[in-house]
Amino acid sequence: MILVAPECLKQIVDAAEAAYPNESCGLLVGHDDESSRVRIATAHPSDNLASDPRRAFEVDPALRLNLHKRLRGGPDDVVGVYHSHPDMRAQPSETDLARAWEPRLVWIITSVVAHQAVLTTAHRINEAGTQFEPMPLYTDDWRDAPTRAPMTYPGLE
Ligand SMILES: [Zn+2]
Repeated sequence: MILVAPECLKQIVDAAEAAYPNESCGLLVGHDDESSRVRIATAHPSDNLASDPRRAFEVDPALRLNLHKRLRGGPDDVVGVYHSHPDMRAQPSETDLARAWEPRLVWIITSVVAHQAVLTTAHRINEAGTQFEPMPLYTDDWRDAPTRAPMTYPGLE
């Protein structure tokens, strides 16, 4: 399972909405704990370098290099990648499968419909690299995180 810090999950969701209708993307830093859970501590946004950012994402390789340098010798490392799916479901696409590189990396995907993030899911490529497998995604108590602006529904006040 994956445990994401609440601030970190909020950051991922906010980035997905802000990038709409383009795909947002970035890297996830954390570590595997004793119970082989992946704990994600921080999210690091990247410019989307894909030639068509509405349909694809590409993380800036310089971000990964910088993170590796900064994290060297510490308990944390780059453990995953996140991106958004504008007007698409929060499931890995064929493109994602074709571009999935390391078996251990966690993939977090947020679907966004009409500027609104609707679902965030986590996946990991199997050892053979042939398909993604879903992973349970948990967060600590949301109450500790900054709250999102409440939705207003015209006519229901
Ligand atoms: Zn995708």
